[in-house]
Order: sequence, then C-alpha cells, then structure tokens
Amino acid sequence: MNGQLPPLPHDLPRSNEELFVRSCAAIPGGVNSSIRAFKAVGGTPYIVERAEGAYVYDVEGRRYVDLVQSYGAVILGHAHPAITAAITAAAAAGTSYGAPTPGELLLAEEIRRRVPSCARVRLMNSGTEATSTAVRLARGFTGRDRIVIFHGNFHGATDALLAAGGSGVATLGLPGTAGVPAGAVAGTLVVPYNQVPVLDEQTAAVFVEPVAANMGVVAPKDGFLQGLRAECDRVGALLVFDEVITGFRLGVGGAQEHYGVRPDLTTFGKVIGGGLPIGAVGGRQDVMETLSPLGPVFHAGTLAGNPLATAAGRAALELLTPDVYPLLAARAARLAAVLTDACAAAGLPATFPVVGTLVGMYFGAGPVPTDFQQAKTTDEAIYRAFFHAMLAAGVALAPGAYEALFVGLGHTDAVLDEIAAAAAGAARAATSSSG
Ligand SMILES: *Cc1c(COP(=O)(O)O)cnc(C)c1O
Repeated sequence: MNGQLPPLPHDLPRSNEELFVRSCAAIPGGVNSSIRAFKAVGGTPYIVERAEGAYVYDVEGRRYVDLVQSYGAVILGHAHPAITAAITAAAAAGTSYGAPTPGELLLAEEIRRRVPSCARVRLMNSGTEATSTAVRLARGFTGRDRIVIFHGNFHGATDALLAAGGSGVATLGLPGTAGVPAGAVAGTLVVPYNQVPVLDEQTAAVFVEPVAANMGVVAPKDGFLQGLRAECDRVGALLVFDEVITGFRLGVGGAQEHYGVRPDLTTFGKVIGGGLPIGAVGGRQDVMETLSPLGPVFHAGTLAGNPLATAAGRAALELLTPDVYPLLAARAARLAAVLTDACAAAGLPATFPVVGTLVGMYFGAGPVPTDFQQAKTTDEAIYRAFFHAMLAAGVALAPGAYEALFVGLGHTDAVLDEIAAAAAGAARAATSSSG
C-alpha cells in the first residue's frame, strides 16, 4: 500500500500540530477550504496521509471511520480499486490536452442517460463553476437579471449566490461575505426554504437544493418542488436544481427522479468526478445551446472535461447501478438509528433526519427543521463536544454542525458497529459537557 504513495520527505514531522502550524505559514488559515480549519469546533485538524474504504489515516498513524467522504464526492469508499485503476490508466495516456476526448463524451452521455432533463451537458471543474455558469446561462437565456435562492441553501463560492438571507423573510441584495460587491447580489433575492415564493417577470431563475444538505439535511415539503416548477412556468423563469450533493447520491437520477420534478437546468459536482475535481451543468437543449460556441453566453475552461476526472467519474457511475441505492439508503437509516439510540440513551435531545441516502444532524429538542431559521437553532456547543468525543473515539464527522453525514459503499455493518460504539460514549460526553 505505502509503496504506491508519493513519498513524503523523510524529515517531515509526523505531527498534526506541527504540520498545521507549518501549513498556516504557507496557506491562509492552513487550509484550502475554510471548513477544514476546525474553526467551528475548535482544535487542530487531523492531517490526512491516506485513506481506504471507510477509513482515513492521519500523519500520526491514527485511523478514523470517515463520515466526511470528501463532503460527498466519494461514494464508493476511499481508494476504490476501480477508480484507482481508471485514473492510473488515464494518467498514462496524458493528463490534459486542450482538445475534445472520447472520455468526456462518454461521461456526458452517461449523465444524459440517467437524468432525462439533461438533453445537453457541459463539463467543468467544480460545483462552484457549475453554479456560476448556470447563473450566467439563465440570465443570458432569459434576458433577465433576478436570481432567487433559498436561505440556508449553499451553491458554492459564486458571488451572485453568496447573498445574505434574513430570518424568515425575503431579502434582496445583501452580500453574504466581504468582497462581494453590492452590485453582484443586487439581483439576488433570498427567500425562506420550503415556501414557494411569488415570482415576477424579472426573474431569470430559481436556484434550489432539491434536498437541502448544507443546513443539516432538510427535506423538501410535499409540493414544494412541484410548486416551484409551476411558479417558474407561470412567469417564464428557469428552475435550476443544484444537485451537486444529491446527483447520483440520492438515486440513479438524483433528486429530480426521486421527487418527479423536471428542472430546466441541473448543476452537478462531487460524485460525478469519482473524487477528482469536476462540475457540470446539464439541461434543456435550447437553454444549453445558448452557451458558447453555439450561443452568446461565454463559458470556457483549460482543464474542463479533464481526462482523469472523466475517467474516475465514469468508473464511479459504472458501479452506481440501481441496486446500490437501496443498500446505501439502508446504511443511512442504520447510521441515523445508531446515533439516535446513542443520544436517547444519554438523554441528549437530537434528531438525525434521513432523506434516502443522506443523513443530517440536529441537536435540540425542537421538531425536525424545515427551514434555516429552525436548522440554526441546533446546539453548536453540544455539537462541538460530540464531534470531539467522536474524533477521540476514532470517528471523523465534518467539523461543522450543519454538514451532512456521508455513508458510502465502504460503510459496512462492521463499520456501523464501530460508529455505534463510539457514539454511545460521545453522546454521554456531550451530555455531561452541557452540565
Ligand atoms: C459542494 C457544493 C457546491 C460547490 O461545489 P464545489 O465543487 O465545492 O465548488 C455547490 N452546491 C452544493 C449544493 C454543494 O453541496
């Protein structure tokens, strides 16, 4: 196993603490994606050296059951032999050409075959690139500027979609982070999740996570997605499903198949790259052909349709046959049951909502959240204590109270037993921490 790894320098300290301090001197905050810095939970991140199946191993040689799974990009388990073989073979044929390839065609055809709303598919490098391209495309196609998004939904680091939402009310044009000019979100309206907004004819598109998986896991209420479809149709706006998490994870055809609602555009990422950087926009032929070179909406990318990412993605999809999803859903249900039992036994109020193969967490006595106002009442201090007790017991959750738990083919019954054992103690520790 170790023989296949790119060698680390012999003098590199095998200490999370030392490496993180050194990373902080070279990389802002020591990380390349903010959540990894453990700001929300405190402490020093474990620095991963390698991973296999359900497990990640840090540089100190500690093993963790991994429920992060690259925030959902990995579904077959880490270092799955089929993915590794596909990437190795592709790499031997060159890593990027700047010309069309058969691999990108085959991945696009496979996405199209599984997701009928995607008559055309454009591949790119990240979910963020997919959502920012979809914003430009929706505006270019409709000739309108207004974009509607939902409070607590996440669409990546795209300026127009990084707008601040108010508490349970519609807010327009407030930047969600420093560096986003008011002008970039002047056309962005943020409305509460699970309520169908009344749109007007200025609206280019409604962007929605069909299952919200970045505020815990919040299911769409009955009729919500159907209502959005009807309201978009009424005013001639495009309905965009952000399936960067749900695509090829909730089922073969993603959330749109699960709920029977056909969006005009869909954004993908995570699973379709088999753990390599990827993103995609798919949708109606007339809308998609508004993209350059056929239409006036510009899109380009030096590494777009990358041969390694498309090879890994095709290998992943090949193994994601219809029979896999009931198995993953059963594991998700068992994970939620195990965590629910542990918290109940410790007298810790918590719920673990399950939507198909997705599991969320909510620490509180309230009902299962249906929007962000409710989701954010989760007890973050309890989560911090639970997170650290789980980590100490060898189970890695995401270092943030609003992330989903990701089960994959690596999470066998034996692994779920390990999680159960860790959770029993962690729930007791979190309960006593709340005094
Ligand atoms: C992760 C995520 C994105 C962003 O994808 P990146 O590949 O991280 O840029 C967009 N939308 C949703 C719903 C996501 O979960």
